[in-house]
Amino acid sequence: MERVKQGDQVVVRKGKDAGKRGRVQRVIPRENRVVVAGANMIKRHTRPNPQAGVAGGIQEREASMDLSKVNPYCSTCDRGVRIGIRVLEDGRKVRICRVCGESLDS
Ligand SMILES: [Zn+2]
Repeated sequence: MERVKQGDQVVVRKGKDAGKRGRVQRVIPRENRVVVAGANMIKRHTRPNPQAGVAGGIQEREASMDLSKVNPYCSTCDRGVRIGIRVLEDGRKVRICRVCGESLDS
């Protein structure tokens, strides 16, 4: 089971955005990377292309970062936490917060 899924709230653990919380926009499982809204912003210089309606200049967008750099956010603990997996009686697996034991999947 994936530790982090698209749409999750996660907290950045390391780097210039450490402590920042954001929503996972994309997971790239093959590369073990995630794209988190508002985190790990990079500047891109774009050339104007009038035919495509693209204005030139500097655009900021999110770059992917290593999955190990983020922790799932637990709303009960109000911070990024390590998670575990619990198997429910009906066989479903849910992710739980290792700190408080709350399920992160409803
Ligand atoms: Zn918790």
